[in-house]
Amino acid sequence: MANRVIPAASKLLKTIRPLNSASSTTISAISQPIGHAEKAPHPTTTTTTNADSVTLSLSSFDDADKLFASVSTSRLLRAALNLHMVAVEPMVDVGMWVMRSRLMQTPLIKDVILGLIRSTIYDHFCAGEDAVAAGKSVMELNEAGLRGMLVYALEYAGDNEACDRNLQGFLDTAESTKSLPPSSVSCIIVKITAICPTNLLKRVSDLMRWQHQDPSFHLPWKRDTFPIFSESSPLYHTLEKPEPLTPEEERDLELVHQRLLKLSQKCAEANVPLSVDAEYTSIQPAIDYLTYSSAIIYNKDDHPIVYGTLQAYLKDAKERLLLATKAADKMGVPMGFKVVRGAYMSSEGKLASSLGCKSPIHDCIEDTHSCYNDCASFMLERIANGSDAVVLATHNMESGRLAMAKAHEIGVGKVHQKLEFAQLYGMAESLSFGLKNSGFQVSKYMPFGPIQLVLPYLLRRAEENRGLLSASSHDRKLTRKELMRRLKAAII
Ligand SMILES: Cc1cc2nc3c(=O)[nH]c(=O)nc-3n(C[C@H](O)[C@H](O)[C@H](O)COP(=O)(O)OP(=O)(O)OC[C@H]3O[C@@H](n4cnc5c(N)ncnc54)[C@H](O)[C@@H]3O)c2cc1C
Repeated sequence: MANRVIPAASKLLKTIRPLNSASSTTISAISQPIGHAEKAPHPTTTTTTNADSVTLSLSSFDDADKLFASVSTSRLLRAALNLHMVAVEPMVDVGMWVMRSRLMQTPLIKDVILGLIRSTIYDHFCAGEDAVAAGKSVMELNEAGLRGMLVYALEYAGDNEACDRNLQGFLDTAESTKSLPPSSVSCIIVKITAICPTNLLKRVSDLMRWQHQDPSFHLPWKRDTFPIFSESSPLYHTLEKPEPLTPEEERDLELVHQRLLKLSQKCAEANVPLSVDAEYTSIQPAIDYLTYSSAIIYNKDDHPIVYGTLQAYLKDAKERLLLATKAADKMGVPMGFKVVRGAYMSSEGKLASSLGCKSPIHDCIEDTHSCYNDCASFMLERIANGSDAVVLATHNMESGRLAMAKAHEIGVGKVHQKLEFAQLYGMAESLSFGLKNSGFQVSKYMPFGPIQLVLPYLLRRAEENRGLLSASSHDRKLTRKELMRRLKAAII
């Protein structure tokens, strides 16, 4: 069935109140440990409706002494070493070269390399080799007042057989949440590229892009969905009219729908949301299409099961969010979104420039920040009005501070089932614990799986954390400061 036609989003954009319009409020952030192993105090239960009675401050996120009070020195030292190691660019360059090199094909050398990776960045950024180990890591987090987003680290599948195998892995992950403490897992994550061959995602995205330009272009296989594109969405990926799907491709697409529906059903039974990761623009239209068509079936009665992901670094992100939520409202479907900045910046830029087009990513970082904060603000207001759910996935302190202030201002309770903050496991610990100790729900994105399976993820983390000004610089500074303080105390 064709999707519904929604009026232009541009008018609606004006209705978003920016996040930085929140009044100044206080949340006292009592800092807690990085180690996740020891029980933290219960979150503050202060009422959140009187915004003026409190003052928002992230200054206590800098209080290393309190933050790491109950972390053993050995654990702190290990975290500090790992974070400092991934900040040394030449070391990361060599590490990444080795991980991608032929050395990995020589059994003995490979074992040594994998051993080194396991005891360093794997232990730091991953939750374990299987669901049982990941479950233990979730319990540790839960003891410290955080929740887990379980990510079975499967990213790609070449054919239907691999897709079915991967699906079983995701189904088992959903099943494993049943044996964990209630609400210790905030959602399970799926990458659509693990249950649908990339070629098919490209074909479906091309066909949908063409239909967006020419609404008379018929797509007989298309199910109910929300709008995938806005007026400003980039269409340069599809230069000529694509051939219709072959009968075999149509059958394969139906299999993908069935896989996602089966996984959504499993998550509904386990009462744990399913969050679909966002990837790159050449295949994202098909990912959104599959996500929305599943959400339309499974998101009911104010209870979103299937969440999409919005990448705020894209110029059309805000417009698409408005169009999708408006369509969801019309259909009476509660929607959940994970809002991220986006992780495919350099490849998006390269592809666009190779085609002689402008990058789909905001021209400057400030525009990305303001788009992120606007989208967060919009979703918070929807939560306040009783619909939808949002995961604010970010390591950006300013975005965290603005979202806390906005939540206060509009009376979104702190421990509110529909609002979750999230950071990657092993990163932005001070932000996670600061938010948690301010009373908000906070999750860590926890990839797990055999070490070779998570190598692509580890490479991305190594890339993200490299350099002195990288994402982990705040945590590095704090761990160093606390270790120095302890050393001085021991000497004196
Ligand atoms: C829980 C969680 C889930 C995630 N899931 C996904 C996912 O499904 N899909 C996905 O793509 N990513 C995902 N990410 C990664 C995310 O998109 C970011 O790469 C990462 O979190 C850094 O963004 P930040 O919000 O933490 O902001 P910051 O720490 O402020 O990082 C900003 C970074 O954004 C980049 N940037 C963005 N726009 C611009 C611009 N216009 N000019 C220059 N630089 C720019 C720069 O590299 C900069 O370093 C996830 C992250 C988390 C924490």
